[in-house]
Amino acid sequence: MNLNHFFFEACAQVAAKHQIKTYVVGGWVRDQLLNRPSKDIDIVVEGNGMDFAQKVAQEIDTNIQVNFFKTFGTAQFNYKDYDYEFVGARKESYDHNSRKPVVENGTIQEDIARRDFTINALAISLNEADYGQIIDFHQGLAHLKEKRLVTPLDPNQTYSDDPLRMLRAIRFANQLEFKIEDESFKSIQNNANRIQIISQERIHTELNKILMCAKPSIGLDLLYKSKLMIHFLPELTWLHGVEEYKGKGHKDNFYHTLQVVDNIASMTDNLWLRWAALLHDIAKPQTKSYSEANGWSFHGHEVLGPKMAHKIFKNLKLPLDKPLEYVKKLIYLHLRPISLTKEIVTDSAVRRMVYEAGNDIDDLLILCRADITSKNEAKVSRYIQNLDALKIKIEEIEARDHIKNFQPPISGDVIIKTFQLKPGPEVGLIKNKIKDAILDGEIANEYQAAFDFMMRMRGL
Ligand code: ATP
Ligand code: MG
Repeated sequence: MNLNHFFFEACAQVAAKHQIKTYVVGGWVRDQLLNRPSKDIDIVVEGNGMDFAQKVAQEIDTNIQVNFFKTFGTAQFNYKDYDYEFVGARKESYDHNSRKPVVENGTIQEDIARRDFTINALAISLNEADYGQIIDFHQGLAHLKEKRLVTPLDPNQTYSDDPLRMLRAIRFANQLEFKIEDESFKSIQNNANRIQIISQERIHTELNKILMCAKPSIGLDLLYKSKLMIHFLPELTWLHGVEEYKGKGHKDNFYHTLQVVDNIASMTDNLWLRWAALLHDIAKPQTKSYSEANGWSFHGHEVLGPKMAHKIFKNLKLPLDKPLEYVKKLIYLHLRPISLTKEIVTDSAVRRMVYEAGNDIDDLLILCRADITSKNEAKVSRYIQNLDALKIKIEEIEARDHIKNFQPPISGDVIIKTFQLKPGPEVGLIKNKIKDAILDGEIANEYQAAFDFMMRMRGL
């Protein structure tokens, strides 16, 4: 373990000088042992964490600004890219109706016992007598090797005390690709409805971490199977299952969606594009129908989908500005590229799609590619070839017509002046006709062509 760092040296000095037992604990220790990069370091002292933080900061650089959280007895500062947190060792008990514990001062051993998983309950001594020694009261090292998530105390009590731990279990199972012990998983299922006392912000933070994993389907499937998902994302659970009619079934849209999310995770780190993948088919259950001629169809799910996405973002307190607009747009357009590869497409249909997608056209094509989950390899390679051909066509059209960042070549002011109109709906109508003519390829996307068109349209 590499403790040759000015920060640990400063902690050790303060600890020795003031005879304060000091340990680095939790995530940083775990991540070091797993060789994962980690930029938050948590320090526990047997004593006052806030005083200790102040002394360490002084030791490192007198300009450091320490933030104190008196109600929690914690302190924090950032320095050179790292986030340092300090707390006095404590023991706690929980009130059934909240995750806010009743806290008293305690020893390192008591502090460690209240942590969520044994792999997060490892500490390293920064004390003179045993500097650098790993402290492992709960077999955390063994569990790290075995890739198991085990709670230090009774799992039922652990999850009931703080239901956020259920989401953390699943998030770690996904991030680290560890197994949640069977008994622990049963406790999660039994306590699932306790998740209701957790704030939506905390829930979406964990959900985002799951979506940012290399293979988010692991976490999403665990969220479903643990019965947690139904409490904060019921719409996604409704995608689960296959209905049959006269022996014909449709695909399971839940597992299809998970596959699409995994596919997109291998193509992009854009969280909101991953969200778009998660929600692209969200309205399928509500739009499902069966007909003799066409079998199963989900007509209009791309129209209802953005509305459902809005509600989901609102419930989960996710940002309702740009990210939601982006996700809605991609859901709305997600069928468009494939439909454009099916028949012989006109340039004007491509131009319209590029106009609607704007700068998000490349992301739309990524989503579309991720959406191909057929097991039939010939079909998959045909779709991919078609999408590649469409991409080339888009590039050609864009180079020629500049539709992505479409700005009307004739401004409202020019229209008003030319026809001596008052500002109003008529101006918008004229602008729209010009835009349509450009997208339909009747005229070029430039001032003179648009001006002449406008005059002809008015019979002038
Ligand atoms: P990450 O930083 O990737 O979220 P982490 O394990 O470091 O993972 P933090 O939220 O930074 O998580 O918390 C630091 C440590 O505090 C954890 O390793 C764990 O020991 C403890 N901890 C955090 N949240 C809880 C909780 N809800 N219940 C019990 N212990 C917790
Ligand atoms: Mg951390």
